[in-house]
Amino acid sequence: MNRSTFAIAGFILIAALLGIALVTTAPVPGDTETVFQVSTIDALLAGVYEGSSTVAEVKEHGDLGLGTLDALDGEMIVVDGTVYQVKDDGSVAVVTDTMTTPFVVVTWFSPDITSEITGPLNLTELEAQLNSTFPLQNLFYAIRIDGSFSSVTARSVPAQEKPYPPLVEAVKNQSVFEYTDMQGTIVGFWSPAFVEGINVPGYHFHVISDDRTKGGHLLDCSIDHAVVQIDTTPNFFLNLPPEGDFHALDLGSDRGDEVEQVER
Ligand code: ZN
Repeated sequence: MNRSTFAIAGFILIAALLGIALVTTAPVPGDTETVFQVSTIDALLAGVYEGSSTVAEVKEHGDLGLGTLDALDGEMIVVDGTVYQVKDDGSVAVVTDTMTTPFVVVTWFSPDITSEITGPLNLTELEAQLNSTFPLQNLFYAIRIDGSFSSVTARSVPAQEKPYPPLVEAVKNQSVFEYTDMQGTIVGFWSPAFVEGINVPGYHFHVISDDRTKGGHLLDCSIDHAVVQIDTTPNFFLNLPPEGDFHALDLGSDRGDEVEQVER
């Protein structure tokens, strides 16, 4: 081997080693500066409901977050490291580690900003107030709001059967819950506009009651009084399904209108 082929072989060896390092590098457990996400919102919109990560894996990457479960079986909310499932009959259960998720967003919650709000404040007013507290645009913010709510409107979705319909079809059978005088926690994220196709641009909130008997994907609320905690999160890690329906999809189309339909 002459000098130049030796150099090339060395380069290939280093590239191979780097390649291995790249596929095995994930946020270290306890990393408070990273949003960890499984799959993409557009894949969920397209009907990729088969779970690709276990709840045990998700819990390594955060103690606060939201998502759904295999087969789109309800809304998931992660609070203080416990993963809950709000089913479409309104019941709430703790999710076991072996269950899987087709879409979830979590982070290790470490608040940078804490404030108190006094209502009445509806969801639109809450979002406007939060907008003014973010120190920088174009980063991710994890948000936790603990308080008393005179009303909460939340929804959940029924488990789907294969062949899975798109999410706009699945949510036509959603259950909407109207709760009054709830003590609870709203958990969510504000994501920058450039995540379109990957996550939900703007706000996405789930909610759960203090007694862990009520909850869902938050559609509206009236806040009496609450403590708001915000965690600025500059890193984003995307964990894509290693196999399955995800890879048969054309994910090039703009599904922005569908996001509005299913999330708002
Ligand atoms: Zn949701």
